[in-house]
Amino acid sequence: MNLREALKSGEQYLKDHGITDAAVDAWILLEHVTRINRTVFLAEGRKELDDHKAEDYQELLKKRAAHIPLQHLTGVQEFMGFPFRVNEHVLIPRQDTEILVEEALKYLHPGMSVLDLCTGSGCIAVSLAKLCRGIFVDASDISREALDVAGENRKQLLADVNLIQSDLFEQIHGKYHMILSNPPYIRSEVIGTLQEEVRVHEPYQALDGKEDGLYFYREIIGRCRDYLLPEGRILFEIGCDQGEQVSGLLKEQGFLDVEVKQDLAGLDRVVSGRVS
Ligand code: GLN
Repeated sequence: MNLREALKSGEQYLKDHGITDAAVDAWILLEHVTRINRTVFLAEGRKELDDHKAEDYQELLKKRAAHIPLQHLTGVQEFMGFPFRVNEHVLIPRQDTEILVEEALKYLHPGMSVLDLCTGSGCIAVSLAKLCRGIFVDASDISREALDVAGENRKQLLADVNLIQSDLFEQIHGKYHMILSNPPYIRSEVIGTLQEEVRVHEPYQALDGKEDGLYFYREIIGRCRDYLLPEGRILFEIGCDQGEQVSGLLKEQGFLDVEVKQDLAGLDRVVSGRVS
């Protein structure tokens, strides 16, 4: 089988198994196995795929057809232009979360300190450390396994981030110019309705915002004041239907300049505020 035929049959196989982005996924898995890029593929599509690689490709296609996320098969997800290692212990970084990083970058300057709560893969903390030199970045997560992944990303991407295992603020002792978080925010009862890739293969702990989805916002907003410097800012990623509720929680607690920002699809995605 040549490369072109392999791709075509891979695409068909995934389509037959109900994978939405069959063409894209079939290509990414072929690229992962052969390490050839699109240009080489276009020029040398008639080249034979050796048996060993063909077998590896089949193996990956089978797993993808069983709804294992593509990123668990390739081991990476790009975020803010950086390749982040991921596995089943962390939420796969989402493009929407780049809005949170971009918002944070508007306020950060060299010398400032920032805390990323529920860091997971470390995508937010590592990106901030890479994109704003001279800031001090702490990142925490309750999960040891998640912190191992964040540690790998820190090392691989040469980012200066201090990792702390902590249940929210439990092990946090500093004060920060900014606290930000993309916490679990899906209502428990909705999790069962999510696509299999998310529901079965992403960590439940990284998704579950408990009964009304707002558990972590309440916890963090209730306690973050003690960890913010004067005029310090809090920034959250939110679910697209949580803008009003989360900004309401901030206002109730006396936060100033409370704002909701939209993502590229025009949906509410980030809420921020500051203390006096
Ligand atoms: N902070 C990580 C991310 O944005 C993990 C978020 C989470 O586990 N809810 O990808």
